[in-house]
Amino acid sequence: MRAIDYFSLPSPCYILESHKLDSNLAILNRVQQESGAKILLALKGYAFWRRFQNVRQILSGSAASGIYEARLGFEEIGGRESAKDVCVFSPAFKPEEITALLPIATHIIFNSFAQFQAHKLTIEEKNKQLKALGLSPISMGLRVNPLYSEVTPAIYNPCAPKSRLGITPDQFQKGVESHGLSGISGLHFHTHCEQDSYALERTLTHIQKHFGAYIPQMQWINFGGGHHITRADYDVDHLISLLKEFRATHCPNTSTADAIELFLEPGEAVGWQCGFLLAEVIDIVENDGQIAILDTSASAHMPDCLEMPYRPSLAKISKASGEIEPDKGEWHERDKNKKVGSYRYRFGGPTCLSGDIIGDFSFDSPLCVGDRIIFEDMLHYTIVKNTTFNGVPLPSLGVIENGTFTLLKSFSYTDYKERN
Ligand SMILES: *Cc1c(COP(=O)(O)O)cnc(C)c1O
Repeated sequence: MRAIDYFSLPSPCYILESHKLDSNLAILNRVQQESGAKILLALKGYAFWRRFQNVRQILSGSAASGIYEARLGFEEIGGRESAKDVCVFSPAFKPEEITALLPIATHIIFNSFAQFQAHKLTIEEKNKQLKALGLSPISMGLRVNPLYSEVTPAIYNPCAPKSRLGITPDQFQKGVESHGLSGISGLHFHTHCEQDSYALERTLTHIQKHFGAYIPQMQWINFGGGHHITRADYDVDHLISLLKEFRATHCPNTSTADAIELFLEPGEAVGWQCGFLLAEVIDIVENDGQIAILDTSASAHMPDCLEMPYRPSLAKISKASGEIEPDKGEWHERDKNKKVGSYRYRFGGPTCLSGDIIGDFSFDSPLCVGDRIIFEDMLHYTIVKNTTFNGVPLPSLGVIENGTFTLLKSFSYTDYKERN
């Protein structure tokens, strides 16, 4: 049990449990050490930079989807000067974005041959300067679409029909015919979401089938994110053997003759189950059942509850007794025999959106105003997606290290005003 007085902490507040992040980093480090692949943090999913000390120590750099993420990765994890990679992919770069990326990026990945052609000369100019200084040049790559992904729902599937992400095999062939691959040193695919190594293995056969002919010309392949490496049932040894096998079978025909370099860029797997969102019950109303209104919102603070959608794991902490009771399950009228707690509540947020509903939960003891709620596993894809919709205050950010809570950041009215 956590020896923390939850009622002394601010609410709502996202709280990193740093030893859990360290356990994730240890697994990722093992993958790097044993497979020889580099692991980058995808900032899209997890950007809790105020506690990046150990991320910086262990991971090989950052994966960014544009100039702001690239800057954050460069500033807080490092760039070529500290032997870290900043790999940037965007569905489309504007010229001024490329200009801003020149001092920051180590890898720039394009989503089309047209984008590659549009920005190639600018990058090659910069590379002349870098080479003159004895620094490694910016490496250019192309994102491909292997027409195979096991991801559902479609909103998260980069290979869904008419996807704009990645070059399809026929477009790739056309691109090679009209422009060649001179200047391109890597291929990138991102087709996974919360998946295991066996999904990767199946995907690699499609990569091989559609793009295998080009791999010998490449110095690196980026396997994207969505690898759920730190999940308890993930077969880490299988991933390591896949990566080693891939490296052993593909050698670039460059003068260095090294095995091909591989990148993985997970976001979720870094921030997986390493912290919680603490909230408070503000009121309980009745309408065909009890509805608890919290100081945190599904829409503004846990958007994946509505988008995915998914039902968070949670526990309540009694204000009266301090006792912690995990949720005893979702209940439905249609499902009368299911064993759940006898005290049942719908949890909703403080916004005026009717659909700001976190879910239906049950307990063996009653919920009371003033009780606190722990929403488990709320560090990834939450903070990075937060909004001040309806003027709801942004949750504070904190960390528990060695049993002690430290408040890292609180937000104010200004954060709301300044973005409107
Ligand atoms: C979203 C994304 C990632 C990270 O995905 P996770 O599911 O968080 O591991 C990596 N690379 C690209 C290109 C992405 O779009």
